[in-house]
Amino acid sequence: MILIVDDNPDNIYSLQKLLESKNFKVDTAQSGEEALKKILKYNYALIILDVQMPDMDGFEVAENIAGFSKTKETPIIFLSAVNTDKRFITKGYDSGGLDYVTKPVDPDILMLKVKTFYRLYEQTQALKDIQQTLEMEVERRKQAQKELRSKVDYLHTLLESLPQIAFTCDHRGNIGFVNGRWFQFSDNEHTFPQTHPDDRPIATELQESLESGKPLEMEVRVKKRDESGYSYQLLRVWPILENGENNWVGTFTDIDVQKKAEKEKDEFLSIASHELKTPLTSIKAYMQLLARKLKLDKGCAEAKYVNRVQDQVEKLNSLITDLLDLSKIDNGKLGINKKVFSLERMVQNAIDSIVQTHDQSNMELYRQGDISDLMIYGDEIRLEQVLVNFLTNAYKYAAGTEKVIVDCEIMVDFVKVSVIDFGIGIPESKQSEVFDKFYRVEETSFDFQGLGIGLYICSEIIRSHQGTIAVESSAGKGATFYFTIPLNLPTDAK
Ligand code: ADP
Repeated sequence: MILIVDDNPDNIYSLQKLLESKNFKVDTAQSGEEALKKILKYNYALIILDVQMPDMDGFEVAENIAGFSKTKETPIIFLSAVNTDKRFITKGYDSGGLDYVTKPVDPDILMLKVKTFYRLYEQTQALKDIQQTLEMEVERRKQAQKELRSKVDYLHTLLESLPQIAFTCDHRGNIGFVNGRWFQFSDNEHTFPQTHPDDRPIATELQESLESGKPLEMEVRVKKRDESGYSYQLLRVWPILENGENNWVGTFTDIDVQKKAEKEKDEFLSIASHELKTPLTSIKAYMQLLARKLKLDKGCAEAKYVNRVQDQVEKLNSLITDLLDLSKIDNGKLGINKKVFSLERMVQNAIDSIVQTHDQSNMELYRQGDISDLMIYGDEIRLEQVLVNFLTNAYKYAAGTEKVIVDCEIMVDFVKVSVIDFGIGIPESKQSEVFDKFYRVEETSFDFQGLGIGLYICSEIIRSHQGTIAVESSAGKGATFYFTIPLNLPTDAK
């Protein structure tokens, strides 16, 4: 908007019409005082100021305008009948556009000047806007940087206070921050602690995680700088999103004591099960001899007792065998002797032995699926052990129900063997854990005897056959345990 200041209404009128005809918005004031009031209140792109006015003349108005920071850059065009020395005009007016037009006004010249000043005003305004935006952006970035720095400081303080070794690294694996404990294991902040020669180097493992974006969790033996031996640490490295980039935070937690205790427990289990196995084998043999020697009538009480003893000895035997298998798995010595064999024979053997040992049960065992001609490659005894385990569990956890089904299905490149029962089932949230070592479903563990190692051994056996093992179940409605074995016979057996 342009402000015209003139004490003569006729002059104002003609100038206003001229400017409005060129699409400028116009405001007017008939005295210096009125002009100053308006200038303080509104923003003007240009002021056209008559010099000769009663009370406050144009120069005084200009001096006042120059005194206000808000208006000091507003361009002014003076209109005067006489040619006045410009020194007066510039007095106290140090910036902004300034020009001088003598009356009578030549409309073309005035319009040229108005347009120039107006454009200048618009450009100055645009520059100011850009400057303001830039200043805001700089401020915003400064603030963001400050916040980031304080977050990083917070994270570092946190990592420093941990009882673990802690570090951060970028998405390329370059270590950024390490806490004080780091130096117990490494002499500089750029190199990971030295790992045991039999363990995978940390940098290699980490690289794989960084590439996949997945957290890393591994047990690793690392060496303390001032000690010769290695200690077990649990290394966990997690991605954190910082500034749109993935950075990683890692910790080493000392698990050496647990590891040693675990090893001692495994060793004890191994020795105890070995020691128990020998006398038990003798008891079993002597019981068989005794039964044969006594030649008892089937229905008599003594025969029943001998049978019971034999059943219990068998249970004890299978418990000890499981414990022995467990220690073999821990030592990586679970022997698997693969050869080609008839799956049908293996399934039937498992069923026969389970029916024999559960002759008191009212549960009917049904078969589904024809596998009569199927030969597979694997360890027949170990796979039978898996099926016997599934069936034993079915008889145990579905006791009192009417049937159990053994289903065999030949698929394109594998065979699937399932045991379906209609017993207590397993809640969905617990299903993934039943194959873990020593895991037993808590809610039912008091009602049924067991050690929680059978399915763990099964899963290890199936794993060494490159097969899969799983359970499908809904609590209270039964469970289907199954395993699959690939149907790829070795080339010399085809
Ligand atoms: P155990 O039976 O000696 O406890 P397992 O390793 O064979 O050990 O089984 C682990 C757990 O899985 C069991 O304790 C039980 O809670 C659950 N489980 C196994 N089989 C069944 C089944 N057929 N029905 C319901 N729960 C089962």
